[in-house]
Amino acid sequence: MSTPPASHKGEQRQIIACPECDYRPTPLDRWRCLPRCGTAFHTFWTRGTCPGCGLQWPWTQCPACQKRSPHERWYRVPEGSTEDAALEAQT
Ligand SMILES: [Zn+2]
Ligand SMILES: [Zn+2]
Repeated sequence: MSTPPASHKGEQRQIIACPECDYRPTPLDRWRCLPRCGTAFHTFWTRGTCPGCGLQWPWTQCPACQKRSPHERWYRVPEGSTEDAALEAQT
C-alpha cells in the first residue's frame, strides 16, 4: 500500500464521495467494524483501517444508500482541475 505524500505541490484537491449516490461523508459519520471488533471509527480518516483490530476494510458502506463500494473508489479528483491549470497558464 503506497500512500500518496501529502505535499502542497500542485494542490490537488480530492473529494470523497459515494460512487453510487454521490453522498459526501461528514466528520460526524462513523463506521463500525462488524462483525469483528465493533469499534466505531471514521473510515476516511484511517483510509479504511480499523483502529481497534487493525483490519483494513477493502469495502466501505455508504451511510446514505447502504451500498458497499471499494474503498479506493470513494476518492475522486473533481472534474475541471485540468481546466484550472489551463486558466493559470493564460495569466
Ligand atoms: Zn451512497
Ligand atoms: Zn476492528
